[in-house]
Amino acid sequence: MAEEKAKPRIGYIHLSGCTGDGMSLTENYDILAPLLTDMVDIVYGQTLVDLWEMPEMDIALVEGSVCLQDEHSLHELKEVREKAGLVVAFGSCAATGCFTRYSRGGQQAQPNHESFVPIADLVKVDLAIPGCPPSPEIIAKTVVAVLNGDMDYLQPMMDLAGYTEACGCDLQLKVVNQALCIGCGTCAMACQTRAVSMTNGRPEVNSDRCIKCGVCYVQCPRSWWPAERINKDLGL
Ligand code: SF4
Ligand code: SF4
Repeated sequence: MAEEKAKPRIGYIHLSGCTGDGMSLTENYDILAPLLTDMVDIVYGQTLVDLWEMPEMDIALVEGSVCLQDEHSLHELKEVREKAGLVVAFGSCAATGCFTRYSRGGQQAQPNHESFVPIADLVKVDLAIPGCPPSPEIIAKTVVAVLNGDMDYLQPMMDLAGYTEACGCDLQLKVVNQALCIGCGTCAMACQTRAVSMTNGRPEVNSDRCIKCGVCYVQCPRSWWPAERINKDLGL
């Protein structure tokens, strides 16, 4: 009898995040059961697995930014890097810092906890899935793409692993100022805080509402245009 192929071992690491990214994973109602039971083994994760010692993992989904004044978080992040084949910045807090970029300490019970940075500032990150939270669909598709070695699908996420200083102003600097904007309004639709509005066919960002999640730039069709992948999906 043929030996059953080992399933990839996935871990979920919760740093300074709100659990929204983990919740978004569980909102894959139609495929969640096969995803979690047939396709992968969840081997580590607070609230998911009753295990204190971090095991070796193929993929680690890391949610949340990391607090530089919290030794436990720093240690856990470094341990993840040692024990996981692929480290995924899971959600905008891990990928770009998101609203923890505004942290400045001074609150009880840990007033010295003031510095929160994206995980790529401290360890090598292989893939980033920005989103606050990322959609259930992109999480499931990313896991499946990793399992299938679908590099076409993963390439943008690999490129985004270096996109840590996200800001709504990227639309102006990297799209409009580069003569790339087509006025489609996708950025305004993607922003969950309604920080982006369209004025004269171009995005305008209210920086007081921007939480630095990076979603507007990531979703902009002129920030990354995977022509080969799109043609493949459309059968062209
Ligand atoms: S403008 Fe909106 S989508 Fe863009 S980084 Fe700011 S909060 Fe995120
Ligand atoms: S999503 Fe990109 S191309 Fe579309 S309006 Fe916004 S900046 Fe312009």
